[in-house]
Amino acid sequence: MRPVMDSYHPDQYPPIEVVCPRCGEVGTARFAGPCTTCIANLRDQIRGEAVVVDIEYVPKVNVTANAVAQKDD
Ligand SMILES: [Zn+2]
Repeated sequence: MRPVMDSYHPDQYPPIEVVCPRCGEVGTARFAGPCTTCIANLRDQIRGEAVVVDIEYVPKVNVTANAVAQKDD
């Protein structure tokens, strides 16, 4: 059975040498993954901005009526 981790102690994970899978730069990090430069680039590329759309929401009319909601008593 896998041990349950009930708390996270950063000291348990000292920085290790990792190679960025995106640009190949060698650096140190606590966990494997993209380097800080690549993370910043990816965030800039992928981040979306919220927009206000001028569309009225029209609820879908179900073909089959809800028999319980329409019960007449
Ligand atoms: Zn990188």
